[in-house]
Amino acid sequence: MNQSSTILGHPKGLFLLFGTEMWERFSYYGMRAILVLYLVATVQNGGFGWTNAEALSLYGWFTMAVYLTPVLGGWIADNVLGQRKSIIIGGLLMAAGHFTLGTPHELVGGNAENAFYLGLVLLCCGNGLFKPNISTLVGDLYEQGDVRRDSAFTIFYMGINIGAFIAPLVIGYVGEKIDWQLGFVFAGVGMLISVAMQLTLAKKYLGEIGVKPSAHGIASTGEGAAKDKPLTAEERDRVKVIVIMSIVSIVFWVGYEQAGGLLNIYAKDFTDRNIFGWEMPASWLQAVSAFFVIAFAPIFAGIWTKLGDKQPPSPKKFAYSLLFVGVGFLFMVAATLQQGGDLEAKVSVLYLIMTYLFLVFGELCISPIGLSLVSKLAPIKYLSLLMGVWFACSAIANKVAGVVGGFIGEGQEQINNAFGIFAGLTVSGFVAGIVVFFMADKLVDWMHGAEDTAHVEHSELDQDPV
Ligand code: GLN
Repeated sequence: MNQSSTILGHPKGLFLLFGTEMWERFSYYGMRAILVLYLVATVQNGGFGWTNAEALSLYGWFTMAVYLTPVLGGWIADNVLGQRKSIIIGGLLMAAGHFTLGTPHELVGGNAENAFYLGLVLLCCGNGLFKPNISTLVGDLYEQGDVRRDSAFTIFYMGINIGAFIAPLVIGYVGEKIDWQLGFVFAGVGMLISVAMQLTLAKKYLGEIGVKPSAHGIASTGEGAAKDKPLTAEERDRVKVIVIMSIVSIVFWVGYEQAGGLLNIYAKDFTDRNIFGWEMPASWLQAVSAFFVIAFAPIFAGIWTKLGDKQPPSPKKFAYSLLFVGVGFLFMVAATLQQGGDLEAKVSVLYLIMTYLFLVFGELCISPIGLSLVSKLAPIKYLSLLMGVWFACSAIANKVAGVVGGFIGEGQEQINNAFGIFAGLTVSGFVAGIVVFFMADKLVDWMHGAEDTAHVEHSELDQDPV
């Protein structure tokens, strides 16, 4: 790779991956923003007329499957296709999925629901091939121990969220106000733009990275022995840290992933969305988190750099992320208290916005840090697989989130139930945060200094900025 051509001190390939992932996330989050709303919309309004519980249950299964397939997709890339081909095939499958969801009901007659399920299956398969491999490609741009890795993942994470921010505004508007199917078609077009970027620019900016399956690469570079050697005690400890941190992330994502489901429904039914007499689409509130990520990611990255070797180690950051979930849901507890059992009452949109703000503070302490941590700690031969494990924990969390959100039920009981759910999420965030805080030292021991070099070199960077 041509290291001399850089932007902001990073290889240009990073910005290609940024753009590719931005458009893919645009399509994913756009589709996701309207999915539940489409399912619960009445048949006259072009939806399927499902109940909240039915819609949230399917949403839970679907978002689980979406993040479960990366385990397989990571393995396929490592052993058969390589990351680059996986991304393109995965992207095309996802585009096909969005267009299938976007097929007008009249065209499929009585098979509208079957076509809908087929679309979801295509999305799951495509995401499995796409998501873990685009993330490991980011790590592959850097040599082991390169101090730019964390900031590369933060930049990449901003790409994710620029896509996630624009998506609900465009696709949410088109879906809710014009036509559900057209919304899904827009998502498909976004996915095609992502694939087109890879097809036209990858050769130039990524060179040979990710072309060959990495398991073959290890063998062909004479490191074949490393492939068959059992893990050392140190490597085993590091894998343990990845697995434990991935499991911890479940508690975080269960809270966080209420966004597209329960909080989306709460926005629709119980939130005053009037701005100067015009009611904004509920799905627009799905853009708030992404906006906060874009606004705060550079600030968080700046804080970490400024703290240099005094910055908390990753396990402590994970503990903070859980405490932030606890604080975030306190605002929703307050919202339901203000509603006081009145189904007609609409609370201020500020409650949701404050919840999203704290969830994003948490996200910035766990999500880019987790991706970077996996790419730092994983033994090379298990890299994609362990990235798959990281996403598989998001899968479990998404399913649990759907179940938890589904307790909202229908009718009069909704507000009491919502109070219970939000209070439960607050307590679980605080309890888990405290437990992880006290486990952190042990986890740091098991990392065997993986973050030490980064700290030293970060402080060198501070003295001699590049
Ligand atoms: N917002 C992130 C993304 O879409 C989080 C994904 C996850 O790990 N659950 O990439």
